[in-house]
Amino acid sequence: MVRIPTMTGSRRLLARLRDVMAGAGTSQERLDQIVSIIASDFVAEVCSVYVLRAGEVLELFAATGLASEAIHNTRLSIGEGLIGRIAVQARPLALADAQSHPDYAYRPETGEEIFQSLAGVPILRGGRVTGVLAVQNRTGRAYTEEEVETLETTAMVIAELIASSDLFSPEELHAVDGVTLLSITLDGVRLNGGLALGEAVRHERRIQILKLVSDDPVAEQRRLDNAVAEMHGAIDEMLEAKDVAEGGEHRDILETYKMFAEDAGWLARISEAITNGLTAEAAVEKVRNDTRARFRKQTDRYLRERLHDFDDLAHRLLQHLVGIQEISDVTNMPENIILFARNMGPAELLDYDRTHLRGLVLEEGSATTHVAIVARALDIPVVGRAAEVLDKVETGDTVIVDGDNAQIHIRPANDTQQAFVDTLTARAQKMATYAALRDVPAETKDGIQIALHMNAGLLADMQNIPETGADGIGLYRTEIPFMDSSDFPDVDRQAELYGRVIEQSGGKPVVFRTLDVGGDKGLPYWDTGNEENPAMGWRAIRVALDRPALMRHQLRALIRAAQDRDLSIMFPMITEIAEFDAAKKILDMEIKRALKKGRTPIRNLRVGTMLEVPALAFQMPALLKRVDFISIGSNDLFQFLFASDRGSPLIADRYDPLSPAGLHLLQSLIEQCDAASVPISLCGEMAGRPLDAMALIGLGFRTLSMAPSSIGPVKTMIRSLTAGDLTRYLESLQDVSEHSLREKLREFALDHGVMI
Ligand code: PEP
Ligand code: MG
Repeated sequence: MVRIPTMTGSRRLLARLRDVMAGAGTSQERLDQIVSIIASDFVAEVCSVYVLRAGEVLELFAATGLASEAIHNTRLSIGEGLIGRIAVQARPLALADAQSHPDYAYRPETGEEIFQSLAGVPILRGGRVTGVLAVQNRTGRAYTEEEVETLETTAMVIAELIASSDLFSPEELHAVDGVTLLSITLDGVRLNGGLALGEAVRHERRIQILKLVSDDPVAEQRRLDNAVAEMHGAIDEMLEAKDVAEGGEHRDILETYKMFAEDAGWLARISEAITNGLTAEAAVEKVRNDTRARFRKQTDRYLRERLHDFDDLAHRLLQHLVGIQEISDVTNMPENIILFARNMGPAELLDYDRTHLRGLVLEEGSATTHVAIVARALDIPVVGRAAEVLDKVETGDTVIVDGDNAQIHIRPANDTQQAFVDTLTARAQKMATYAALRDVPAETKDGIQIALHMNAGLLADMQNIPETGADGIGLYRTEIPFMDSSDFPDVDRQAELYGRVIEQSGGKPVVFRTLDVGGDKGLPYWDTGNEENPAMGWRAIRVALDRPALMRHQLRALIRAAQDRDLSIMFPMITEIAEFDAAKKILDMEIKRALKKGRTPIRNLRVGTMLEVPALAFQMPALLKRVDFISIGSNDLFQFLFASDRGSPLIADRYDPLSPAGLHLLQSLIEQCDAASVPISLCGEMAGRPLDAMALIGLGFRTLSMAPSSIGPVKTMIRSLTAGDLTRYLESLQDVSEHSLREKLREFALDHGVMI
């Protein structure tokens, strides 16, 4: 239904403001014009705009009716005076007798004592306060609700002017937050160590609104009605989907969601903003801003959840109005990005310019989730399970991520920032000691040599071989370059990349794992479908065997890249011997093809498997006859062994690989491999944790592969360990039935001076 609004004062005003916005002049000049237009339209003696500046100060930026010396001189702190109160509460205020209000603050330089009444509204953008717009009258004027609403609508235009202007540097705008102004420290879980200082970027799809003002509210209302109808249609379709129609919790959630979509108050507020002269999309955004600002101060969990619903609905509605836009503009980003997300896939992380990525904070996430693994490869600190962090941080906030202590400092005070710089210096010194270890052997005190390899996936990782002194690449995750690409890399592109990896390894061995896509490792350009349990679904070798062309091309590229050098290939997620045989057969075919084409044979071809599925552990005799090596993928192996999703924050610490079951399994695997003289290594995340690595060495592992940043700490541990003592100690623990042996092993390390 199309409502026919009357030509409101607000629309007339907005039309005039639009002309100013489109006209010539600096931002300051336009702001000056805007305040005088508002003042005359409102028949107010004063109209002023305060802008929130760095240091949490509201500065008078433009005013008509106040002493001109006051402009850029009058500054209020947050909460100070009526203007400060509007900012801190993110709510409008309309007072016929402003001077009798307890928060009234007298500023002589403005000459404002003669003005009796005041109406002010927060200038909101993205749900946060960026300033205050106020009008004042000499008489005791009672401002109507409609007038306040008009001021709010006008404030939206000013918000855009502030955000897109040259009034001051964008960094300065970013440094403030009017909704949650105080510094906050939040605790999470360490997913990768390290320290970083940077600017928060919320990983979200932000919709850009190009047109704010419209003088055809009928057309805008029609657009809104159509978009709402489309949105309802889409929600109904979701409800009709077979699995949802059958009921269950997700149906309830969708029903509630639908109820919000029909919320008359919400839709009425959007229509009202249209009547006041905004385009449909600007009206949705305005109401979203207001809702965000109001809900954000809610401490009630239920109500805060509702904010997510409304926020999401507004986002959907905007998509229906302006079409789906690409992911938040990842090109126009700050120098030092600290990325915040509820959760994300590894490919999404790689969309960001990694030379600017300094840290990652997730509301969910666990150590073995792939995005954390990729972040670790980028060597940035990662904190996961930071509860409700997205409610507390805004894009542009200054943030410190302390991965070592699993803390995030949002809008840190200057002292905290200084302490950060000191810690960073101390950390750099520690790193220097690791670097000094680069050329010393990873040898235990009782003379056992351990080969320390590193995991890689990006070309940029290769420089870490000389930097860390790694013995080679124990796991090259070939899916990472696939994720980092906008389409399937063809044979030539792959061969080029693998060739560079081999060259940059400087003659050290590289184990290439064939494509492990599926699960949480989606490719942006390839839809592998929706599965209930993707980690146990169509992924890795299962995909490769069903789509042999994919694997043939990859193997062809690897063979071409190796030329006459060594080549090690490893298949992921092998569950049964027949799969290994089938994969090997494809490899043999490709080798034959290469020879037929006159290519020089590979000097030394080694073919192995990942051991990530418990079923394979029960086929060892047959497997050991076929493989040249085995690498245990403990991330997957333990998620399947314990039936415990590696990405779920709820059970992330529930089961421990250093438990009787975990250690028995590893022990049995190493014994069988040793007896058959088949090299075995472990390349899951546990290999990079000094205490876990210590246990692995005690069990008999002599090769480990880990994130480059773990090599220094693990080598330090190895050089302080007497492996024989530990092996004997572990033997004495054969029959324990505790949840985990972690504490016992920690005590062993402390008692024996092992540096974990
Ligand atoms: C593993 O599962 O332990 C492993 C190394 O593979 P990914 O983490 O890539 O699944
Ligand atoms: Mg795996």
